[in-house]
Amino acid sequence: NKLSNSLAAADIAHSVHPYTNMRLHEEQGPMIITRGDGVHVYDDQGKEYIEGLSGLWSVAVGFSDTRLKDAAMRQMEALPYYHSFAHKAHEPSIRLAEKLAEMTPEGLNRIFFTNSGSEANDTVVKMVWFMNNALGRPEKKKFLARNKGYHGITVASGSLTGLPANHGDFDLPAIPVRHLTCPHHWRWGHEGESEAEFTARLLKEAEDVILEEGPETIAAFIGEPVMGAGGVMVPPEGYWPGIAALCRKYDILLVSDEVINGFGRLGTPFGCQKYGFVPDIMVMSKQLTSSYMPLAAIALNDRVYDAIADNSAKLGTFGHGFTGSGHPVACAVGLENLRIIEEDDLMGNAARLEERFQSGLRRFADHPLVGEVRGVGLIAGLELVADKATRQSFQPAGKIAATVAKMAAEEGLICRNVYETVALCPPLIVTEAQVDQIIDRLGRALDRGWAWVQDTGFGTTA
Ligand code: PMP
Repeated sequence: NKLSNSLAAADIAHSVHPYTNMRLHEEQGPMIITRGDGVHVYDDQGKEYIEGLSGLWSVAVGFSDTRLKDAAMRQMEALPYYHSFAHKAHEPSIRLAEKLAEMTPEGLNRIFFTNSGSEANDTVVKMVWFMNNALGRPEKKKFLARNKGYHGITVASGSLTGLPANHGDFDLPAIPVRHLTCPHHWRWGHEGESEAEFTARLLKEAEDVILEEGPETIAAFIGEPVMGAGGVMVPPEGYWPGIAALCRKYDILLVSDEVINGFGRLGTPFGCQKYGFVPDIMVMSKQLTSSYMPLAAIALNDRVYDAIADNSAKLGTFGHGFTGSGHPVACAVGLENLRIIEEDDLMGNAARLEERFQSGLRRFADHPLVGEVRGVGLIAGLELVADKATRQSFQPAGKIAATVAKMAAEEGLICRNVYETVALCPPLIVTEAQVDQIIDRLGRALDRGWAWVQDTGFGTTA
């Protein structure tokens, strides 16, 4: 195929890709996706894939919803761009803010728009600092986050992220942040430690860190209810209520990063509802527009909003915002996308298919490659290990999950390898039959992966 060859050559010659080993990419070339239809995408050779990760955990309504295209076109024609700086507004962002205030838990009434989840978390850092300056406690600046948590890649949001790839040679963290233990019992529990003991240990660790740093210096705790990009980690029972209680006790703002969890992914509208806590600040993106347009939103409670409003009155302005903040086309797409999620009951679909999806995947718990199958709602991860008894990983790290993900793509299923984990997060429109196909295709990839390990001896010697 001449076009695809020239496209691939042009890509290799001119593009720099995120999260890509560029030297390897120069040898292998890209997978070029040209078209989408429902849960499927097609490459430039016409091969069909189930998009088992919804793009990047994003596309609730699938890849071909013409209602979103129509909403974008209508807004393009009416008013393709305007901003919301300096007392200006336009209808799509007003309506979407109203809608989000209505959907989010009680108390989260004020909405600020950014273009991406990273910008939203960066903005949260600045808002929290702005608030504490307004309240006359400028020393209350530090953040608590967790190892394996993902909050973005800008200088501040990347600092909150707890993954080595985002810190290492980037000289992060660059803001004051303490990363606590990842709340994943199977991997981080001590030998013989029960889940309840593990939870108690993590809550004690959090309190010890707060006391060691001084509560008067800790501004906020940020976390994803279920961690996504770090490898789909489901928290133990009691963890979130315990963290919320500590935040109340020490006057620390609780930030729920719902960029992946939000809008029904876990079978509830938001992850915080699944785990029984109400944050002061919530961050949303991805399924907000099904990523047809880039958009993120921050919901604030009145206390945070009032402090910001008072400080901006004092300073004459809240000096923060983006050219594209609350872009009218993105907001129009977001409004239509949320309408579709409600009208087609996609959150209900996720809740109904949870059992089939999760129990289907748990059948792989006995597979020789699989250490743990975990997940909730329509998000799941299978962590691959070299030794099921000791949970020891294959060496070199990450290669086995990448190999299985590549084999899954050959079988017609796109999933994502995150470290040692194969992650799945299908569009919320997925059907029962497609859930079964996802599981079948993944099963074939796991079997091929296991055959490959046996053939090559991979991972048996470090
Ligand atoms: N927070 C979470 C929980 C995320 O998963 C992501 C993106 N994967 C982000 C923040 C950053 O969003 P973006 O890529 O839009 O900057």
